[in-house]
Amino acid sequence: MNPIPKPSVIVMIGASGSGKSTLARTWPADYRLGLDSYRWVVSGEAGDQEATADAVFVLTAVLERRLARGLTCVVDATHTGIEVRRRAIEIAHAHQLPAAAVVLTTPLPQCLDRNSRRPDNRRVPDEEVRRQHQQISLARPGLHSEGFDHVVTDTRLMRMRLLLQRAVDRVHADHQVEGDHTEHARRVLARRFFGEDLAETFHWTQLRPNHDPVGALAVGGDEITLAYRTWFPDPMDWGFEAQVPCLGGCSGPAWVPVRGPMDLLAVYDDDFPEDVVRCERCTAGATVREAV
Ligand SMILES: [Zn+2]
Repeated sequence: MNPIPKPSVIVMIGASGSGKSTLARTWPADYRLGLDSYRWVVSGEAGDQEATADAVFVLTAVLERRLARGLTCVVDATHTGIEVRRRAIEIAHAHQLPAAAVVLTTPLPQCLDRNSRRPDNRRVPDEEVRRQHQQISLARPGLHSEGFDHVVTDTRLMRMRLLLQRAVDRVHADHQVEGDHTEHARRVLARRFFGEDLAETFHWTQLRPNHDPVGALAVGGDEITLAYRTWFPDPMDWGFEAQVPCLGGCSGPAWVPVRGPMDLLAVYDDDFPEDVVRCERCTAGATVREAV
């Protein structure tokens, strides 16, 4: 059962390291307004405390614009201070939407432990985590009287199924790609292999029947040609190869397998292991295809 109505403003309340962002990730990405993300947006550093005021300014602007459209928002910040919480409630009510407090009940030692495992620029001093945890414990009984329409603890939120369902949906989408040769499926394929940004620079250039599809990553004057190999019987083994000059010095196209951005960088830098190169014309390099 999900006690939080939709749409609403979901206000996460929890110390650093309490798992707010992990829980927030169970909502769709556009719902999530994370203070750390906006610190990063305005300053380039998610942990830059001096950027907090500017980050709050941008977060609030996005929150208001979404609420004006009647869209649910999950505000991912510590919300330890009563003034900050009151402000969130006011904004929700100004848009005739309920404000729901989601209180993280993670014990202090666990918060401290998680916090200690963060990178330097994201770590909060232990004293600060202790202070946050205590402030929230003290505030908890009074959240209803502060004006929250709903107060729930993380332990009452059944969010796991939603997260699992989304993962299952993604697997289904990926499986469709294996047998599906539509433009959309190929686009999904490129995104899955190279990530959002690289996929934006990728386009298919040769789609001929009975030939592996060929495409190119192009930015400015740089270009890497890629072919998607489907000659292995098990679709799990299908994957991209990048075109490189033949090491044997012939004019034929040679190929190296690329499994992700790191391999592409190696291709761009001319820094890939020679034994994985396969030339189409001469016998230089590995003969992957003959092994099939
Ligand atoms: Zn060759």
